[in-house]
Formats: sequence, C-alpha cells, structure tokens
Amino acid sequence: MRIVSGMRPTGKLHIGHYFGALQNWLLLQEKHECFFLVADWHALTTDYQDTSALKNNIFEMVMDWMAVGVDPTKSVIFLQSQIKEHAELYLLLSMFTPLGWLERNPTFKEQKEQITDKDIQNLGFFGYPVLQATDVLIYKAEKIPVGKDQVPHLEMTREIARRFNHLTKTSLFPEPEAILTSTPKIVGTDGRKMSKSYNNSILLSDPKDVVETKIRGMMTDPQRLRRQDPGNPDACNLFPLHTLYSDENLQKEVRLGCTSATIGCVDCKKMLLPNINKYLEPIREKRLDLEKDPDTVQDILNHGCQKARQTAQTTIEEVRSTLHLA
Ligand code: SF4
Repeated sequence: MRIVSGMRPTGKLHIGHYFGALQNWLLLQEKHECFFLVADWHALTTDYQDTSALKNNIFEMVMDWMAVGVDPTKSVIFLQSQIKEHAELYLLLSMFTPLGWLERNPTFKEQKEQITDKDIQNLGFFGYPVLQATDVLIYKAEKIPVGKDQVPHLEMTREIARRFNHLTKTSLFPEPEAILTSTPKIVGTDGRKMSKSYNNSILLSDPKDVVETKIRGMMTDPQRLRRQDPGNPDACNLFPLHTLYSDENLQKEVRLGCTSATIGCVDCKKMLLPNINKYLEPIREKRLDLEKDPDTVQDILNHGCQKARQTAQTTIEEVRSTLHLA
C-alpha cells in the first residue's frame, strides 16, 4: 500500500510533532511504501514575504525526522519544490476544482480570522487544498494518515480525484482513504497548545539541561498553590508527560502522591526528568551525528527526490495524455 504524508518545514520539531505524526510514520514505514514530503511550497502560502529561514528550516526538520528513525532506506524522503510535476498537476487540477469547494474550506475561514499578522489574502493560500490534493494524487496514494481535524482536507482530495476521473471518464486517480491517527493532546510549558510560535515547546533536539529548565518552569495544577494542598493530575499540564514517558507504576505513584499531597510538584518533575531524557537521549545523539555531516542529509533528499520524480513523471504523462496535452 502506498502512503503519502508530509510536514511544512518549520525548523526544529518538538515532542508534539513526535506524538502527533512521527511516531505513526515509524510504524507505517515498516509495513508500507511511504513517501514523506517536505512541503516547502506550502510554507510559502502563508510565509511568502520572508523566506530567508526556509533552507535552514528544511534541514533542521529533516534531521529531526531521521534522528527519530524515519529511515531513507525504507521511505522516500523528498522536497516538494524539487518535483516540478507537482506544479503542473496543481495547475491542471485547479481547473477541475469548483471555487465553492475552496470557499467552504473550514481551515481557510478559520486561519483568515486567526492569522492577523500576515497578509494571506492571496491565491496561493486560497488554493492550498488543491496543492495538498496534488501532493497525494501525483503518487496515487491509497492511504493517508490524518488526525480528525484533517478529514475535511482529505475529503476534498477525494472529491477532486472523483471529479477528475468522472469528467475524463478514467480511473486515473485512486481516492485515498484515511488512516485515522489518534493524537494525544500535548500542552506546552505554559499550558497552551505546544507550538513554536508560543515559545512553549520541548524540542526533540533540546539538550538535557534545557529540558530540565523547561520542565522545572512548567505550569502545573493552578489550584495547587501550596505543597500541602492536594493536587489534581487531570488539571495539570505536566501529568500528560508522565502518561507519555513514565511507566504505569510511576504514573499511579504520582497520581496517588499528588492527590494526597505526599509529593510536591518539584518532586513530581524530578521523577519525570530521567524518563523524558531517556527517550530524548538517542534522538539527540543521532541528531548530533547528522549535524556533523550535512552532506548526508542533502544526499538523502537528492536520492528521495529522484525516486519521487520518477513516480510523479509517470503520473503527469498519463494526465497529459488523458487531457490531450502534448
Ligand atoms: S504533583 Fe505532579 S501531577 Fe500533581 S500538580 Fe504537581 S506536577 Fe501536577
């Protein structure tokens, strides 16, 4: 089965990216033919005015992918903008996409309201679901890993494929199906959603002492004002990290200690630290090796692009022929 997934290059990744996507990619690459794309054109849909950090962000992100175990011998790791066939198919599919579908896109409406510091009133942003559809259809992906919130996007991809097939009387594009992935809610150190733009993230590449400083400063149960007050792990930002990194016995111990006030938040954080660091240490080590050898990362991207291009070229030739283009 062929699977396509990707990320916008936002630079170094945080633990939310790991539990939200990468962990799942590692499982998928063991069983399926996976294409993982760095969606650099997508980054431009909102950040076209200053692209100076783009190259560095791509490298940082790909190093994190590889450091967690995304394996270029099992998966195709490639850069969207290096496969020009995406641009051609995007143009052609845009002819098949009714404006109303894009106008109804809930993310477009939501982001137009939320992103106030950038001018996103442009065709690129409006049409990005067609570019997303292109990224998937050009590889004839059969399954796409998505969170619940991305299902409408996948539905539009399926609709575009269906409309193209219907109007051209072909079955050129398979309608990709969702692999629904459950994503644990990872809150940042300040209690908001973990996000680099909020400066509240624990990065996969953070050194041990930085992780310790971040955990020590992390907000906990806001009702637990004094050490002797019983706390509530379910109202605490830190406890979800125990559920991800600590074993069940320790989770029970923490829950009991917290609700009976036999442990304080400082103790609780100390109990978490070795566990989170145990997970992050191998990632840091692998990443440091990759940082010393940037040519390896570039070679992997080049190799992935070659492979992706072959598949994309085959599809675009079929599309041209179907549409009676040269
Ligand atoms: S003891 Fe642990 S779980 Fe309880 S409030 Fe403090 S940090 Fe949170």
